[in-house]
Amino acid sequence: MTTIGFIGLGRMGANMSARLIGHVHKLVVYDVAPEAVQGLVDQGAVAAESPHELGDLCDVVFVSLPTPPIVREAVLGAGGIAEGSRIKTVCDLSTSGPKLAIELNQALEAKGIASIDAPVSGGIKGARDGTLAIMASGPQTAYDAIEPLIARMGRAFYMGETPGAGQTMKLVNNLLGAVAIAVTSEGMAMGIKAGLDPARMIEVLNSGTGINSATRDKWPRAVLPRTFDFGFAAALSLKDTRLLLDEADAMGVPLPLGEIVRGYLETALADYGPDADFTAMAKVAEKNAGLDPERGA
Ligand code: NAD
Repeated sequence: MTTIGFIGLGRMGANMSARLIGHVHKLVVYDVAPEAVQGLVDQGAVAAESPHELGDLCDVVFVSLPTPPIVREAVLGAGGIAEGSRIKTVCDLSTSGPKLAIELNQALEAKGIASIDAPVSGGIKGARDGTLAIMASGPQTAYDAIEPLIARMGRAFYMGETPGAGQTMKLVNNLLGAVAIAVTSEGMAMGIKAGLDPARMIEVLNSGTGINSATRDKWPRAVLPRTFDFGFAAALSLKDTRLLLDEADAMGVPLPLGEIVRGYLETALADYGPDADFTAMAKVAEKNAGLDPERGA
């Protein structure tokens, strides 16, 4: 019987893994934060002591970790998942970039383990509701075997066998999502400075051609209420933007809008600290416009 593992039980992983409980014979989980593990154990999962133990107990392990080096270490490092005796497939749901997907594919294939890259889009809400867009690539047979599990987390798009194709798709998606936040930040700052009501502006934009994922989701939930807690760290958004720009640079594809987003994120982190949410980009544009970003809702 297939046993499924999940490593990385953060904002995304906790929600995605919870959707597997009751749909798999057994879910085994691991995270460096004990409280994150306890949250899943309370819902019926079983705790593993290490990534290595996940590889010993599970046929398939899903990964949802913050950065490419952390993913690499958890999968291929000493005491990593790939050293386990039972592991057959590793599926990386993190945004890790195509380079790491290719590296994982080569290293795991040599050990007879299938590697699927399957980054996700749709935020915490999509992870909770099982409505993520999931863009996957890797060996077709291994993908087909785990597709019903991926479908519990969202809508699956198989991008083909080429390792990293899913990751490239995800970086393109993130460029559009992040540019939407940046351009909405600029337009809103101008309107607010001219005396327009921000809530009314968002209503208008969402009925006009200005509508985008920032006007639709980010402003109503995290910017208009001035909570700046949409649920995606500016540091991780910057990590994604750097992966994108490195990849594009290597391909000879200029991405001037991506460079602008990188600048906004770097300033947001410098001004609002390492835990800032990516919606803090709005405060950067407001400050640039001479507004007071610390004003109330
Ligand atoms: P997060 O920081 O909320 O969660 C990461 C989890 O990994 C934490 O629970 C942390 O304790 C754990 N962790 C860190 N190092 C570990 C290690 N060595 N071993 C085991 N556990 C470890 O991050 P998140 O927002 O859930 O993002 C996870 C991935 O999903 C990232 O690659 C991110 O880019 C991507 N992503 C996030 C969102 C979002 O809206 N938050 C959306 C799409 C994709």
